[in-house]
Amino acid sequence: MDPRDQLVKYFVESYNKGLNTLMGGNASIRINDEVLITPSNVPKTELASSDIVKLSMNGSIIEGTRKPSSEWRMHLSIYRVSDYTAVIHAHAPSIITLYLAGLSLNLDTVSEAKSYIRKVSDVKFIKPGTQELADEVSLRIKEGADLIVLRNHGVVSVGYSLPEALNKIEVAEDTAKILLFLYLRQLSDESLKPRY
Ligand code: 13P
Ligand code: ZN
Repeated sequence: MDPRDQLVKYFVESYNKGLNTLMGGNASIRINDEVLITPSNVPKTELASSDIVKLSMNGSIIEGTRKPSSEWRMHLSIYRVSDYTAVIHAHAPSIITLYLAGLSLNLDTVSEAKSYIRKVSDVKFIKPGTQELADEVSLRIKEGADLIVLRNHGVVSVGYSLPEALNKIEVAEDTAKILLFLYLRQLSDESLKPRY
């Protein structure tokens, strides 16, 4: 399959799975020293493979008529410090909620999480699209994380293929739902108790 078509397919899939809004998130793949990345601000229902932008590792545009994703710094910074070849950023709602509730993704709760995700890390809220966010995320990658929660914003996942990176986000989102369900049940058990 053509790499541009693959990028569109798995990025649109992140929308169909409810992991991204129509305009949210971005995805890229690295092929040798070049990066194919989704364009900025194009609705996923309109996205075509001709919209994909090709970047050099220093961020200059090699091919494409669209503006590259505003998170291009984050994608390139990840590739510079690792041998990963796929990066997906999503605004997965349950993962965001889990961290807002003061909880975190515990990989030990669900066996699927433990088998697909190596290490979870999280970063405080940093303005989207900034070099500061790119630096924080690539630091976590260097420390061995392959799924990084961006507090109040979303999640970034890395892998050696797009299905691998997307699967990590799906598994993390399911794990977050399970943990939130248990947390809410605990809350409601508390609130159901009679008050004397
Ligand atoms: P882009 O459309 O520029 O990729 O931005 C979406 C996003 O999620 C920014 O964090
Ligand atoms: Zn985002």
